[in-house]
Amino acid sequence: MKMKYCKRCLQPDTRPGIVIDDEQICFACRYEESKATIDWAAREAELKKFAEDAKAEAKKRGNVYDCIVGVSGGKDSTFQALTARDKLGMNPLLINCAPDEITEIGRKNIENLNNLGFDIISIRPNPRVAKILARKSFFERGNIVAASEYCLWASAYLMAMKMNIPFIIQGENAALTLGAAKNQEASGNAFAVLQLNTLRGGKTDEFLDPENGITEKDLALYQIPSVAEMEKAGIRAIFLQYYSKEWSQVRNADFAIARGLTGRTDDLHALGRYRRYTALDSDAQIPNQMIKYLKFGFGYATDEVCYDIREGRLSREDAKWYVDEYDGLCGEKYIQDTCRYLSITEEEFWEVVDRYVNRDLFMPASECKDPKAKRICGRYVPRFTVGEDYDSEKQ
Ligand SMILES: [Zn+2]
Repeated sequence: MKMKYCKRCLQPDTRPGIVIDDEQICFACRYEESKATIDWAAREAELKKFAEDAKAEAKKRGNVYDCIVGVSGGKDSTFQALTARDKLGMNPLLINCAPDEITEIGRKNIENLNNLGFDIISIRPNPRVAKILARKSFFERGNIVAASEYCLWASAYLMAMKMNIPFIIQGENAALTLGAAKNQEASGNAFAVLQLNTLRGGKTDEFLDPENGITEKDLALYQIPSVAEMEKAGIRAIFLQYYSKEWSQVRNADFAIARGLTGRTDDLHALGRYRRYTALDSDAQIPNQMIKYLKFGFGYATDEVCYDIREGRLSREDAKWYVDEYDGLCGEKYIQDTCRYLSITEEEFWEVVDRYVNRDLFMPASECKDPKAKRICGRYVPRFTVGEDYDSEKQ
């Protein structure tokens, strides 16, 4: 097996859907480069036109709300909500799909957003169903949050349909930020979420499980409406990132912190990342990123350095330290919490994870003689060197 890194950032080509060109530069780095020549004034004008259209349309429909912003209460959603209201002059309705076992910080941040002067509808999917689906996606995909992401994404679209609201403002297009542009269009059209790898077209059939009591009606909040249905209902959905020159993870975090956002306070080694303002409302992301690391050879700290390299805050060389130090790590507490939530023992947790570990990229810790080598939960040691193209046959 071969793993190649983007020559500009530290994104390996093992990310599903990643586009890396002939010069071995990833799509996200190319997008960053293209930002210098994008006609931002034209994009801003387009966004303003969409906003004005939506206002007129909402008025025609007799609706006081003219747009929907899907919010977790985190950095991006704070920026989206305030942009909608204060920059575009809209009256947004915020839709929050609360994760099962929402964190205290997540609760606080939603409250903060509420207190910034917004109406919020919070959706609370049935926890019995959520738990069965989390178990299913963990056992069958090695992904704890896969099912909950359907619900999360579906919420804004479903509510736009149900409440007859013509405009949806989403945050980031993964094709642009992560370079996963193979299957997903790299545009401002937020119907493209249906093309996300993890959502598999938004179809929920695979979650049907009558034996465990999961029927179609249990999945109502998980089903993203089809593009045809939404277009018929006169709904437009956009990614704000595409229209906003200043959009960046770090900048959005600064923006939101200044307006009351609370971050995590844990040891960074337990989080597997070095910034404290992502995925705040659910702890399940932390072990999930560790599993991703063992599957593909990169975790959340890699995403973070890639943003920092592209936006000029870190050199590629310096960034390697951050990845070595934090990527793929997960505090014991988060694994225990996950096991309790999924009603499995730690042995059962690792039996499943072991099935998904890429053996070409990782060796069992017991086979590693180097006491200083990085160990993931004491179980696995990477065979590759961060930032260097790797060929398992040449080891
Ligand atoms: Zn790159």
